[in-house]
Amino acid sequence: MTISPTIQQWLQILSLWGWIWIIPILERLFPLKGQKFVRKGMINDLIHTYHRVHLWTMLNAALITWLAIYAQENLGQGPFLRGGLIGAHWAISFIAILLFGHVTFYGAHYLSHKVPMLWQFHRVHHSSLTLDSFSTSRFHIIDKTLFAGPFLLLITYFQPDPEMAFLFVCFNDFWGRYGHGNIKDAHWLGYFMSNPKFHRWHHSNHPEAIDKNFSAEFNFLDWIFGTAYYPKGKVPDNFGIPEYSNNIIVQHYQPFVDCYKIAKKDGWIGLFRKPKNNNTNSLEAKRD
Ligand SMILES: [Zn+2]
Ligand SMILES: [Zn+2]
Repeated sequence: MTISPTIQQWLQILSLWGWIWIIPILERLFPLKGQKFVRKGMINDLIHTYHRVHLWTMLNAALITWLAIYAQENLGQGPFLRGGLIGAHWAISFIAILLFGHVTFYGAHYLSHKVPMLWQFHRVHHSSLTLDSFSTSRFHIIDKTLFAGPFLLLITYFQPDPEMAFLFVCFNDFWGRYGHGNIKDAHWLGYFMSNPKFHRWHHSNHPEAIDKNFSAEFNFLDWIFGTAYYPKGKVPDNFGIPEYSNNIIVQHYQPFVDCYKIAKKDGWIGLFRKPKNNNTNSLEAKRD
């Protein structure tokens, strides 16, 4: 399938500038909970958003498309299904890309909660005390790379239609913002998709929801592996890590400091495995 250059340009504009400001309007029109528009850490998150525009959205869309084209031109088909998606119908390519994205995100996200070293980088994303679409982009760049790396490898290996890869990145960008938005939608949607209510439980500090709801878009892996938590008639209201800095510069060096503290306290193995009894470890207490 060929996407016209005009549609591609519109999708790029929406990814770069559109959703960032359209979704906050939806948040005002259909709020899940009463929340202030201006809140603590908002400037920091806007810096993350636009730093993300440069370092992530553009790079991601461009890199994935380029990788897919490069792989098709230079790698071609080979043993072990290499290039298996070359020439596939666009719908097959799109479903495969969705699956690649979903499985790699779920796996990377699960590990980033379970491996102490990875959690130090991922907890930047969990540090916001308020959940709204602006908080979507609050990510450490190493954390973001961990989420993207396996997906890029699969795209390069199987070489699906580059235009479908581009469409997926645009959809991913929209849904990421929507899923973090303070938006009320149909409860049933959360049984299929990581909608705002579903993802809010992932960010909440409620003990029953810790390490639940890892999905990004479709959430069937959470339901299959028993990590879904989606009660009817309840909305979480306790998010974030109050003691964490709201300064993007601190947020980028703090994980290294925290890793050093863990290594000093529990040894290098402590970076890869949680100690059996670590109730006193303040860096990990919220996840245990
Ligand atoms: Zn998480
Ligand atoms: Zn999130």
